[in-house]
Amino acid sequence: MQPSDLKNLNIAVIGAGYGGAAAAKALSLLGATVDVYEQASRIREVGAGIGLRPSTMDRFRRWGVIDAITKVSSPSDYFEILTATGGPIMREPWPEIESFGERTHLIHRGDFIEALLSVLPEGMVHLGHKLERIEDGGERSVLAFANGATAEADLVVGADGIKSVVRKALFSDQEPVFSGEHAYRAVIDVDDAHGMVADDNLRMYIGRGTKVYLLPLRHRGQVSFDITALCPDGTWAPCVTKDDLLKTVEGFDERIVDITRGLDMDAVNCRAVYDIDPVEVWHSGSVVLVGDAAHSMLHHQGQGANSAILDAGALADALAEAGSVKEALALYQAARKPVTDELQRISRQGWTEDEVDDVFPGQKPASQQPKEA
Ligand SMILES: Cc1cc2nc3c(=O)[nH]c(=O)nc-3n(C[C@H](O)[C@H](O)[C@H](O)COP(=O)(O)OP(=O)(O)OC[C@H]3O[C@@H](n4cnc5c(N)ncnc54)[C@H](O)[C@@H]3O)c2cc1C
Repeated sequence: MQPSDLKNLNIAVIGAGYGGAAAAKALSLLGATVDVYEQASRIREVGAGIGLRPSTMDRFRRWGVIDAITKVSSPSDYFEILTATGGPIMREPWPEIESFGERTHLIHRGDFIEALLSVLPEGMVHLGHKLERIEDGGERSVLAFANGATAEADLVVGADGIKSVVRKALFSDQEPVFSGEHAYRAVIDVDDAHGMVADDNLRMYIGRGTKVYLLPLRHRGQVSFDITALCPDGTWAPCVTKDDLLKTVEGFDERIVDITRGLDMDAVNCRAVYDIDPVEVWHSGSVVLVGDAAHSMLHHQGQGANSAILDAGALADALAEAGSVKEALALYQAARKPVTDELQRISRQGWTEDEVDDVFPGQKPASQQPKEA
């Protein structure tokens, strides 16, 4: 689109998570007027770490925001997979380094969203705006929020996460799918990690039906300690005790058991893990989905947040390249959906058949069942 057309574009982004914040940055760099509507009255993230891949870092460099990210993250060279007791299974450099000339950076989720929001102009994000209804009028949409406010936009970007109101209203009424697993996440001091953090590399320990991740955040003197365990309880925020956690790490390296024993349960985020089935169509003529709203995936590949950032970049590229908003949205979907369909598929292969059978004898959760072609 011509710079003058892009300048006249009013864009509403729903959700100020990673996808929404990144879309707001990328689209405002095109010259468009962007408003972000976020339901929460205060932005908060789970206490846990993630790895920002080289392709994601490359986007940040191109958007001129790399310093905001590197200031609060540590570069990492490789990741390692080990048995429950620390026997080597695999050790590999993070992929993509050669193609993008960037390293993977390990970051606390809270620092990450803060850094992304800090590079948006003052006043762009409207907190306390929970989208309730969207009317897609073809070339313009009307938004209605729970606080009584309304807004109109030439382009609406639904970045409202796994339970997306935008997706449900316009593209798919399918509910999120329970994966049959729980994630228990905490950030602890390196001093409480019993000597398990010696460098800046991610280590995953695999036992039967349990994976333990140690993701160093050494710039904070901390480490993100995450347990993912098969569990039949699909309650979104399950009540879990220290004894439940200790059962999941039985037979693991004694130091992992000791870390678990030392956890402050008030600081442990416990949630059942869900994803969604692939959504056939992500856009209309002027409304589009990004991030988890479009393709929420399980975390076994560590790609959900990274994908949200790449979506934002691809959407901005498509708008700059296409002749109209409608054409751009089709281009964007064509570029991103094959990639995220595949990530959604392989992210569901986190466990062996036997492990799933142990926990779900004769009745596997939907996301663990083979899908029809
Ligand atoms: C256990 C676990 C571990 C993970 N580990 C990794 C990892 O290592 N690497 C990685 O890349 N990804 C990881 N992910 C995935 C990652 O967290 C998500 O993919 C990412 O948060 C998606 O970002 P998003 O902006 O699309 O959605 P969200 O982060 O869900 O943000 C959506 C935003 O929209 C707002 N919102 C929702 N509804 C409305 C509404 N109606 N009106 C206004 N605002 C609304 C929400 O409040 C929120 O702020 C993990 C996920 C889990 C569960």
